[in-house]
Amino acid sequence: MTRSNMSYSDRKAVMKQKIALLGSTGSIGEQALDVVRTRSDRFEVAVLTAGRNWKRLVEQAIEFEPDAVVIAEENHYRELREALSSRPVKVYAGADAIEQVVRGGNVDVVVNALVGYAGMKPSLAAVQGGKKLALANKESLVIAGRQIISAAEENGASILPVDSEHSAIFQSMVGEVSPARRLILTASGGPFLRTPREKLCEVTVEQALKHPNWRMGAKITVDSATMVNKGFEVIEAHWLFGFPAGRIDVLVHPQSVVHSMVEYEDGAVKAQLGTPDMRLPIQYALTFPDRPDYGGSRLDFAKTGTLTFEEVDGEKFPALGIAYECLRRGGSAPCVMNAANEVAVSAFLQGKIRYIDIVRLIERALEQANHLVDPQVDDYVYLDSEVRRMTTEWI
Ligand code: NDP
Repeated sequence: MTRSNMSYSDRKAVMKQKIALLGSTGSIGEQALDVVRTRSDRFEVAVLTAGRNWKRLVEQAIEFEPDAVVIAEENHYRELREALSSRPVKVYAGADAIEQVVRGGNVDVVVNALVGYAGMKPSLAAVQGGKKLALANKESLVIAGRQIISAAEENGASILPVDSEHSAIFQSMVGEVSPARRLILTASGGPFLRTPREKLCEVTVEQALKHPNWRMGAKITVDSATMVNKGFEVIEAHWLFGFPAGRIDVLVHPQSVVHSMVEYEDGAVKAQLGTPDMRLPIQYALTFPDRPDYGGSRLDFAKTGTLTFEEVDGEKFPALGIAYECLRRGGSAPCVMNAANEVAVSAFLQGKIRYIDIVRLIERALEQANHLVDPQVDDYVYLDSEVRRMTTEWI
């Protein structure tokens, strides 16, 4: 068979998408590699990056044979290079190198599975380079949503959500010609959904890391416990789908079966349901609009039982309201919230502060940091380090 007489699907099968997977050693990164393993007919790995876990990066590089690997922490460069010296793979180190490989020519899709602020510039680099961006790193849009969305529009780059809620919204919108009226993000409620408010000052790191439904990296698990994560998802939804804060709602749905919903003008509500398995939204972001077999477990309604929905207790989870306020205020407010949260979560995980101090530190940072109405990317860089410095001092 020659290329000219191949069907569309045959042609697509031979034209593998070249993936740059940023944060390959993390929870989303490992699950993305699972998707690549299952669908090796459609994808090949061009770039892998890690923060500091160079040993796992070596194993991944040996298995997936990328063109390049990057370790963000430069002090691991030598070990990584030596371990891969017999392999035909380029080895780089440092945050700038991550941006450079993203901009490089040999990449079709960038999966941004970095955690926190570190993901912002690589997201921007991906869309500036006209690449398809499969985005797990919600902090990118929280900090620099305006710049990332406008760069994507200017350069014809598509952004496909990996976050399960945003994937569900996207899936509930595909094929619709009428605009939606309201987005409804579902939230599991995290490990402290039923913990009385007055007991929250005593909760431990171990308890905060026990998410009832999802197994994720430590930072997002704590963000889920405080509901900072849901607040960030509201901001993420604003940028991805162009909805104002007043038309994005959050509902607690402890079973995590309905991943989110979209309400239309006629009152119809569309939802996407599934098992709590991130490989499904990761694969959808990579194969859209196709839905190949995903290989994981399937939803069994007879076993799922009752699905329930309830309002968020805003007094117990003030972070959600703070995120809405940051979105309404705009400018640099979400960047400040993110920076303070990153420092606070890290301190909480190290046992330096209590769970309830996380939100207190965010509030204090929002009160004291300069507010910029129309910040540029350099302003975010400065503000992020300034808020980190202030928050660290308070701790
Ligand atoms: P993890 O902490 O598990 O993984 C983070 C990855 O980023 C690791 O590969 C880590 O490397 C790397 N990394 C960390 N810091 C840096 C840095 N400064 N520079 C470069 N690389 C760095 O996070 P998750 O996979 O849980 O989350 C990733 C993103 O996806 C987050 O934005 C999260 O909110 C989002 N998300 C995650 C979900 C999940 O189920 N986990 C669900 C929905 C969204 P190393 O291993 O070497 O430290």
